[in-house]
Amino acid sequence: MPSVTIPARTGDYVALKSGQRLKLINLHGTQVIDFWAFVFPSTTSTTGSDSTSTTSFIRSSSSTEVTGVTTSQPATPFPFVTGIQYFAASRTRSILSKLIPGTKDVLYTNKSVPLFTLLEDTTSGVHDTLFGCCDRFRMHNLGHPDFEHASCAENMHLALRRAAAQGVFRPGSISDEWTPDPLNVFMNVPITTSLDRESGGGRIECIPPESKAGEYIVLRAEIDCVAVMSACPNDLIVGVNAGKCLSVEYEPLPPHYYVSTVFLSASGDDYSTEADPAIAHFEFLHKSAWDTPHTPGIGRVKMSSPKRRIETDVMKLMMSDYEVTLVNDNMQEFYVIFKGPTETPFAEGKWKVHVELPDQYPYKSPSIGFVNKIFHPNIDEGSGSVCLDVINQTWSPMFDMINIFEVFLPQLLRYPNPTDPLNGEAAALLMREPRSYDARVKEYIAQYATNIHDDADEDEGETDGELSEVEDFNSDGEDEPAGAMEDV
Ligand SMILES: [Zn+2]
Repeated sequence: MPSVTIPARTGDYVALKSGQRLKLINLHGTQVIDFWAFVFPSTTSTTGSDSTSTTSFIRSSSSTEVTGVTTSQPATPFPFVTGIQYFAASRTRSILSKLIPGTKDVLYTNKSVPLFTLLEDTTSGVHDTLFGCCDRFRMHNLGHPDFEHASCAENMHLALRRAAAQGVFRPGSISDEWTPDPLNVFMNVPITTSLDRESGGGRIECIPPESKAGEYIVLRAEIDCVAVMSACPNDLIVGVNAGKCLSVEYEPLPPHYYVSTVFLSASGDDYSTEADPAIAHFEFLHKSAWDTPHTPGIGRVKMSSPKRRIETDVMKLMMSDYEVTLVNDNMQEFYVIFKGPTETPFAEGKWKVHVELPDQYPYKSPSIGFVNKIFHPNIDEGSGSVCLDVINQTWSPMFDMINIFEVFLPQLLRYPNPTDPLNGEAAALLMREPRSYDARVKEYIAQYATNIHDDADEDEGETDGELSEVEDFNSDGEDEPAGAMEDV
């Protein structure tokens, strides 16, 4: 899908399916995107009593009698019709116990349901969850003479109106007198003082974004939702957008893994957390979604069979832009052509990566090895194997093969960990002489990772010499075999 431009000072929405990814691109580098998401009841699963089907914040067992008057109310349209959930910055901060989500962190709804996972962030990681979004009242408060200044709140409501008009949800479901706090993507709000008993403290300032043109984040929807983005029109607080309101881009990436088909019934007994740390990790991420009084045995989660997952994940990898070559038509062993991430010394390189999926995949992580040589602290130079801890420690059954090639490997090359090396020489060089490290990486690429064969049909050859012979035969002899065929 091509990327979509959000013109300066305006907003847009995109409906996302569970598993679908959304890339938010800082086209000019200095523009903040206010980001929200809403989950509508008709698009959520409502099997049994879970967070998505539980409506009120008052327990059914609680007394609603107040001095003889029943306080139970009919559903009111403010701030939204019953059952809608929204991205909750405050809930996310309290669940994560931090102010800014980092890569692999989950963003939550107001009912503590996982809403997005931050899969990738090419910025230095500066975003904000503290600043309320700008609105016409705040603009007036900042000195604008009337209430007619454009704002993120207005952009959000106009985008929601368009979504409703296009049938994404029922018009009038969300009051335009209510604006939840956004995730302020790319916004730079450092805390500049510590707490002071006398005068309060934890002063926050708004300074220009650190991100550079073209940097982006990728979010994966964990539930069907409508995401809303605003290219913040705030030019009254100069720091927000470095004084100039510019356009941004977003790109919905193809769905590649539908979470809802993989986990869900808490009554299943396929796997136990005690037996599998990967599952424990996975459940930790999602515990709040299933941890309701009516969900017995949170320690057990039903999953689709590993064989099906292997087939699905490999098929998705093959249908994406990756070149995949199966070994003996076996879905559990294959080669993938992997290109080095941009703006790293690995950018020009192309590697053939050997992948083996264990029988217990996705509960156990795949094993990954570079076939042609690569100079990297966490990749063994002789065998090409990737330090397994890197994958094992972060692996979760929620991830799939595309994550390996779009997130894990690019991050491994982008952020090597020289303190725990498989290639001591590369680690030492990176720490002592980063420039020589870059140069050596590039030398290796020139020697081993430049002219590798990436045509899946011609995988018989192993060395460059044999491969070029195969190619010569094909190109030179094309007419002759055709003639021979006619004779037959
Ligand atoms: Zn704004």
